[in-house]
Formats: sequence, C-alpha cells, structure tokens
Amino acid sequence: MPNWSTHLLTEYFTAVNAAEHEETAIASAVERATEMVEAEAGAVVRDGRVIGAYGFGSVVPEIALGEAAAGQPMIEIPYVGELHVASNPLGGETGDALIVARQAEPFDPEERQMLQGMGQVLGLALRSIRVLAAERHLRAEKERQATSAQTRQRLVESLLTIQRAISARRPLPEILDAVTCGAADLLGGAKVTLMLAEGGPDQRLTAASTCGDGDSPPDSLAQAAMAGGAVLVRPSEQGWMIAAPVRVTGEMAGSLCALLASTGGQQTEQRDQLSAFAQQVSLALTDARTVEAVREAHHDPITGLPNRALFLKILNRVLASRGTMADPTSVLFIDLDRFKAVNDSLGHDAGDQLLALVARRLRGCVRASDTTARLGGDEFAALLHDLPVEAAQFVGERIVAAIKEPFRVAGREVFVGASVGVAVSREARQNSEELLHNADVAMYRAKKDGLGRVLVYEPYMHAEALDRLSLRGDLQRALREGEFRLQYQPLIRLADGRATGVEALIRWHSPTRGFVSPVDFIPKAEEFGLIADIGQWVLETGALQVTKWRRDFPDLTLNVNVSGHQLVHPRFADNVMRALAIAGLPSSAVTLELTESVLVSEPDLGRSALGVLRKLGVQLSIDDFGTGYSSLAYLRELPVDELKVDRAFIARAELTGEDLALVRTIVELAQILGLRVVAEGIENAAQLAALRKLGCGLGQGYHLCRPIDPEHVAVRLAATQGESPVGVLDHRSTA
Ligand code: C2E
Ligand code: MG
Ligand code: MG
Repeated sequence: MPNWSTHLLTEYFTAVNAAEHEETAIASAVERATEMVEAEAGAVVRDGRVIGAYGFGSVVPEIALGEAAAGQPMIEIPYVGELHVASNPLGGETGDALIVARQAEPFDPEERQMLQGMGQVLGLALRSIRVLAAERHLRAEKERQATSAQTRQRLVESLLTIQRAISARRPLPEILDAVTCGAADLLGGAKVTLMLAEGGPDQRLTAASTCGDGDSPPDSLAQAAMAGGAVLVRPSEQGWMIAAPVRVTGEMAGSLCALLASTGGQQTEQRDQLSAFAQQVSLALTDARTVEAVREAHHDPITGLPNRALFLKILNRVLASRGTMADPTSVLFIDLDRFKAVNDSLGHDAGDQLLALVARRLRGCVRASDTTARLGGDEFAALLHDLPVEAAQFVGERIVAAIKEPFRVAGREVFVGASVGVAVSREARQNSEELLHNADVAMYRAKKDGLGRVLVYEPYMHAEALDRLSLRGDLQRALREGEFRLQYQPLIRLADGRATGVEALIRWHSPTRGFVSPVDFIPKAEEFGLIADIGQWVLETGALQVTKWRRDFPDLTLNVNVSGHQLVHPRFADNVMRALAIAGLPSSAVTLELTESVLVSEPDLGRSALGVLRKLGVQLSIDDFGTGYSSLAYLRELPVDELKVDRAFIARAELTGEDLALVRTIVELAQILGLRVVAEGIENAAQLAALRKLGCGLGQGYHLCRPIDPEHVAVRLAATQGESPVGVLDHRSTA
C-alpha cells in the first residue's frame, strides 16, 4: 500500500502542480484522488459550488456535496444509495474541499490522512496557479503598456514630422503622403487612404493619397464618416475598416480610411490613432488653404509675381529700413508697348502666356535681391535697392532691350516693347505710393516721347500729369453736363455753289479752360477711353439736327468724323444704326469720315464694322487724304465713297504746279474708282478756281463757309439754293 500510494501520490503531485490552469488541476486532482482510494466519485467544492466532479455522471448532487463539504459523513445519491464521504479542506477558505465518496466501506485513517494531504496540495496548487495567472496577467499588462507607450511614442513622432512639414510649407501632396504612410505604419501595415471630396454639388470622393497594398476603402465608408462627423469602425471581409472624418476650416472635406486585417483587440487604440492622423490632415489642408489664400491675395496668378499691394508693402519696408548713407532706392515702372494688339489678335490665353514670359525676362534683368511685380494689365514694376541712379537707368535700358526680343507665344513670334519710367528716392521718409506714382508719370512721359524709352522722373512731369488728370475729369464732366456743342460746315458743290451736306464739328467751351480745340482734346478723349461716348453724342445730335433741316432741304447729307477708337468698339455698327433710327435719318444720308491712319492701323476689326455699315447704306469717306500713309492699296479693298483732299495740298495748289499735279492725280484716281472728291480748306478764290478747273466735285473752306452754329445753318443753306454764285456766302465764323 505505501508503495503504490507513494507512487500514486507522486503522480498526483506532479499532475496537479504541472497544471497551468485551475480547471486542469482540479480535474486531475479529483480523478486521481477518487481512483487512488478506489472510490466511486469525487468532487471539488469551492465557495459552496461544485467546480469539478468525477464519477457522478450527468447529474451532480450539488446540495449533497455542499453538505459533505460542511462535515456530513454520508451522502445519499439517488439510484445509487448511501455513500461514505471523505471531505478534505483545501487549506484556504472553510467550506472549500476535495471530496471523495465510496459505497463499499468508510475511509480508514490512513486513507483520510493521505486524502487530507491531497486536498492541501490541491489547495496550494490552485493558489499558486492563481498567483501565477495574476502575475502572468500583470506581466502581459505591463508588456501591453510598454508596447502601447512605444506606439504612442511612434504616433507622436509621426505627427510631429507631419506638423513640421506643415509649418515648413512642404508641398501638400508630400504632407498627405506622410500622413497616410505614417498611419499605415503605425496601424501595422494597414492600407490607409485619404478620400477627399472634390467639391461641387455631388461631392465626389477621390483618393488624394494612399499607402499600403490591398483593396481601396468603399466610398460609402468615407461618406458615412463624413455624414456622422465621427470616427466609424465597421467589420469588413478581411477584418475591420476604420474611417475618421477630415475637416477644412471647420467644414467636412473627406475621410481618412484604414483597412485592417485584424485589430488584435486594439480597436479603440487604432481608432484613436487614425483619428489623430485625420486631425493632422485637417490641419494640413486648412493651412494649405490659408497659405494659398494669402498667396492669392498677394501674388498675381498669371506671372506668379507679387501684386501691387505686396510691392508697395515691400517698398515701404525697404524705404523705412534704409540707411542714410546707402545708395538710393529706385522704382522702375514698366509698361508694355503694343500688348493690346497681341491680346486682341491672338486672344487672352496668348496674352496671359506673353505676360508670364515677360515676367520671366524681367526677373532676369534685375538682381536676385531686387523685387519685380505685376501692377496690373501690362504694367510691371521693379524695386532696385542701394543702386546709383545711373545704374537704375541702365537696368531700365536692359529691360527695354530684353523685351524687344521676340517672344514665342501660341506657336508664333510676337514682338512687343517696353517703356520705362524711373523714380529715385534719396530721403528715408519718402512715401512708397508717391515713388511708384512718380515712376508712372515718368513712364507716361517716356511713352509720349516715342516707344521703347527709359526716362528718369523730373518734377516738371508732375505738373503735366496733374493737368492730364484734371483734363480727364473735365472731359467726363463736359459730357455729363452737356458742355459740348456742334458746329456745321457745309460741303459745297463747286460747279453750282449748292450745299449738298454739312460736316458736324465738335466744339468745347470749358468753363475753366475756355475754348479747347478738338485737335487737342479728341486725342485725349481717345486716350482716356471717352471717345466712344463723345462720338455717339456727336452722331445722335448731328443726326437729329440734319433730320430737322431735311424737311426744307430733303437731299441734305451729314458728314461725321469718326475716331479709330470708336471703330474698334464691338458695338460700333449697332450704335451708328441706333442713332440714325432714333433720329429717323436714312443711312444713305450719312457719311462717316475716317483718317487714313485709322484705316491702316485698325485693319481687321474696324474693316468688318465698316463692311457692315456700308451694306446698311452708310457712306464712308477718307478724311485728310494724302497726309497719312498715302497707301492707295486700301482704296481698292475698302468700301469707300468719298475722298477729302487735305487742305495742305489745297493751300499750295495755287502756288506750285507740283501740288496741282498731285491734286489732279487724286481727282483722276477718284474718278476712275467712282469716288466723290472733296477739297478741304479752300481759303480763297484762286484756290477755288484752280480746283473747279481740275474737275473737283465738292469743296469746303473758310472761303465757302466757315463752320457755323446750328441756328444759322438753315439761312446759309437757303442762300446756296438760290442763284448765288460760289464764294459769296458770308465768311463770318461763329467759332
Ligand atoms: P477735319 O475733319 O479735317 O475738319 C476740318 C477742320 O478744318 C475743322 O477744324 C475746320 O474748322 C477746319 N477748316 C475748315 N475750313 C478751313 C479753312 O478754310 N482753313 C483752315 N485753316 N481750316 C479750315 P476743327 O473743327 O478744329 O476740327 C479739327 C479736327 O478735329 C477735324 O478735322 C477732325 O479730325 C476733328 N474733329 C472735329 N470734330 C470731331 C468729332 O466730332 N469727332 C471726331 N472724332 N473728330 C472731330
Ligand atoms: Mg472731317
Ligand atoms: Mg480734314
């Protein structure tokens, strides 16, 4: 007995102590204890509950076993009968016991003692298992904490890297890639995708950045996170998907999505991590938008150069920080010559391309530390610091030379030029706006002197500019307040002295300037963009007036001078026809006078308008013929009806045979082409006689009739209808 018992005891100890879990320890203990004493059944009771049983079959007598644990020597088992029990405390709480039950005979003291030992051994084993388990749990928890601290550290480092990239203004795609890859890395190689809404009504999502392999997240996931405004976790085929919403300046802009093979029980942690990355994306995007907005507010999008506001800011800073001993600060005002022609003929895209190329050349003409800017339209500026005046002027020359070289735009060679004004500041207290304005004034002057020049600002230019400014205001007021008047000069048929028509001539009696000749103010009105309105007023007023006179003189026609600037106005033909319609004047009664230079310099647009008007019956005349380009080629191409020979030829016609020959040629040419000829500026009888002899059809001039106010016109017209010979009209002028 001691032999087998020792052997069995050893086996019992080994098995129970080797058990890693309480359940296995209990199961081994009950089974072995029961078999060792050849009992029928056994159990372990703890806290009044049976936690391990052997030999009882499917129905364990819980209550009986509980009583046995409490000291009952026998238990009654249904269908089996009475059993002797040995209850062996486990050494801990009272009531905990290893129980064996035998039917045949009661347990002897030796058996009882052995069983007691076995009970205690089990108790010990259970306690140590519990401690070990607790320790294991503790260790696991510590390890978990260590790895989670490590993960957090990595998260922090990753986010810091991203933040640094944001504040260093790294390109946005680079930052977004850092976000997705940082998140993918941290989430153990998950596939991470940043889905951004493209904007627009349908808010389509696109993957702005992706890191990792595998499927892309479904749009629905990203949209759900956006709609809910919170992090979402959903099961997927492979494991889990997490989506964290991304906001830009507070508004929902997309989602950062991760597809994970398995969350390894760290769902919460991973959710929080992804959310942290999503916040970085929000920051980066918001920041990029802000930077973009700031950039847009300060830079010209076409050339990338600083705009006027930023240029003035920089200029202010330079002026304020300048040492008194330093060389002066110069501002160059650069205006392109002929830019408008390129823009008009090749289109705005080509114009934009050209501006970008000009900007690049400008940058090449100054030092890296100098500032160049686009002020607007075709105007640029350069700020040259610490440079003597001569050097600044030299830079201006260099710019003019650089811009003169052809540009390749829209597959063509394009030629423009530049005029440059230079303003120099020596005083530290100079105002930046004023300096720029002075450079502008000098540029304007340079342009007036001929294109492609550089001029340094002088104070006298200021007075000129002021006058120019006030002239603009005065002209605007003249139009508004009705300061303009028309005089009319008859066109006389030289053969019989009858007036066939009148030419409307504009007059301006300015309350501040007195009488201003159209020769002086028409070019200004053209420059200021006021000529279209002034021209329209002349047309409407003249048409109404002539319509009235036509009641008495039904064949009377109206000649109106038209500026080239009016001609290229897109609605010019419409405007002319509207004026005639309002007045009720037939188009055939109107002749538009244009100068040769206009016809040569405004080829396409102007010609098409003229073509339209001509088809509608309006007649066309070439004013001051012979003074301009004298290119007769356009006479064949243009639908012209009349030539007005410039008075320069008429004045000398009586004197030199050469001029007479020229006028004769023009008259003959006109006859061949079927055109009317009007001799302008007939001032005396000799000229009149010479012209009649040449067969010139019509004439105008002080000798025939001066330009007169409308109230006198009817009387004069009536006088020419009589038998009065040519030349007897009243010579008085009311001008
Ligand atoms: P234009 O169309 O060649 O007009 C003829 C100019 O010669 C007029 O000067 C007229 O008064 C002047 N004139 C007429 N007969 C004689 C003469 O025998 N001797 C001399 N020395 N001059 C004579 P005005 O009115 O000062 O106009 C000058 C120019 O201003 C016009 O030349 C025309 O080009 C322009 N102009 C006048 N009115 C208008 C207008 O309503 N619109 C536009 N666009 N231009 C106008
Ligand atoms: Mg005229
Ligand atoms: Mg003329």
